Amino acid sequence: MQYVIVLKYGEIVLKGLNRSRFEQMLLKRVRLSLKRLPGSYDIRSAQSTIVIHGDENADMLLAAERMKKVFGIVSVCVGYECEKDMDSIRALVREKARELVAGAKTFKCVAKRSDKDFPYISPQICELCGAEVLSAVRGIKVDVESPEAVVTVEIRDRAAFIHGRGAKGAGGMPTGTNGRALLLLSGGIDSPVAGHMVAKRGVYISALYFESPPYTGEAAKEKVASLAKVIASYTGTVTLYTVSVTEIQSEIAEKCEERMFTLILRRFMMRLAQETARRAECTALITGESLGQVASQTMEAIVCTDALAQMPVFRPCIGLDKEEIIQIARRIGTFDISSLPYEDCCTVFTPRHPKLDPTVEELEAEEAKLDIRGLTERAMQTLSFIRVHGDERLNG
Ligand code: ATP
Ligand code: MG
Repeated sequence: MQYVIVLKYGEIVLKGLNRSRFEQMLLKRVRLSLKRLPGSYDIRSAQSTIVIHGDENADMLLAAERMKKVFGIVSVCVGYECEKDMDSIRALVREKARELVAGAKTFKCVAKRSDKDFPYISPQICELCGAEVLSAVRGIKVDVESPEAVVTVEIRDRAAFIHGRGAKGAGGMPTGTNGRALLLLSGGIDSPVAGHMVAKRGVYISALYFESPPYTGEAAKEKVASLAKVIASYTGTVTLYTVSVTEIQSEIAEKCEERMFTLILRRFMMRLAQETARRAECTALITGESLGQVASQTMEAIVCTDALAQMPVFRPCIGLDKEEIIQIARRIGTFDISSLPYEDCCTVFTPRHPKLDPTVEELEAEEAKLDIRGLTERAMQTLSFIRVHGDERLNG
């Protein structure tokens, strides 16, 4: 008897001819996620399942925690392996029954028989193993319709696995199957959620933070790095770029109409983000904008910033309410970090009465008072980056 981790993959199974490429990417992500854990791991895939064995130094429970953050996996089960004969299987089910049902009052048995030569058919396996559970766990009942617990017996090529219902995986597509995008990452709640939503579809993430020293400090920057670390714990390393917009903001404050400050800054962000994306080999941008949430996110305002876009700008939070965004932030582990107090460059020169219905022409007229090219070039000279790694030991 030995611990084993059984992972099921999701959408990849639908990928037809591309499937083996997706499977290889997923195996690579699984391997990378386990690389820095104690012990060594044997990782194999067959029949839409990845099975992980560990040596005597392996920490299988920690490994299972890590697996919950690998995109492409829909369920993570820690179970047990035994020899493929009915007596061993029944003995193991009996021994582990209480743990497998984890306090549930009802259960059902499911048998998966990928070895069709196994002398018992699925209903027989279920009946025999179900009887073991019933005798080992006092008061538990069978409920095939909506059981609280499920005890699964998998008869595979070389061994049998027994596991409970397991935990939900991160879903989505394996990281690296869908290009690279640049996330405009502030210290707020929305942008990390936006980054996670796009990352989930297999996209590598690089991030860009606009700072405004001395108005924004080191603490704000560290906060953004902590958010990047949470994203990296799902996708692997994230390169976090920083660009200073201090000079741009001072010039806007000095020369432009106050009501337009934020929008002019946001258009500069768009120019700078695209230039950074080109250098970072990203082919799309991601922002945390949500329609109507603040003055710079009205339809008219988004039209004005988008008018400068020369690459796709993904705004996955666009249709979400704040409450829905917060729910995701809590689930992925960014909410507490985002809730720390901080100053953002957008709040440095906030107009008291921002213009809600700007037009591109009005903004261009204001921007004509500025040396757009010089300001953009000098801001790009402040570009720096750090590499942020996900922490394999933590859940966040
Ligand atoms: P968030 O919660 O993500 O900060 P927000 O509701 O505060 O969003 P805005 O301040 O209008 O909204 O910003 C909209 C989007 O612009 C952000 O989601 C983010 O993608 C980008 N952005 C804003 N400020 C910055 C910044 N300092 N650095 C990088 N990106 C930024
Ligand atoms: Mg913000």
